Amino acid sequence: MKSYRKELWFNTTQRREYINITPQVQAALLESGISEGLVLVNSMHITASVFINDDESGLHADFEKWLEKLAPEKPYNQYRHNGFEDNADAHLKRQVMGREVVVAITEGKLDLGPWEQIFYGEFDGKRRKRVLVKIIGE
Ligand code: ZN
Repeated sequence: MKSYRKELWFNTTQRREYINITPQVQAALLESGISEGLVLVNSMHITASVFINDDESGLHADFEKWLEKLAPEKPYNQYRHNGFEDNADAHLKRQVMGREVVVAITEGKLDLGPWEQIFYGEFDGKRRKRVLVKIIGE
């Protein structure tokens, strides 16, 4: 069995952002030389997510609205976590949107459904953060 590890780095210009990282994961898969196996993609931060969904801007606006209803960013003092920080909402949003995804690799390709795309979901950005890509197989 072969394994391959890569970190993807991000530094968003906004506090919250969704980035389609499918091309970077595909590139890592090519670099790995693995044609049958599994790829794990996970956020290495507790205020960011990796998830799979549609690359459609209306849906992303709906995510933003929905998550703001569930865990509004402000007022900051509504959260006990916000003593030294202001990112309690980002921890909660990440919990809902998930930490990681696992995708099957078949014949050297990501075996995704027709509309499935892999996203990095940032909820407390404007700083350098990373995603782990771990590929195992043969
Ligand atoms: Zn925090």
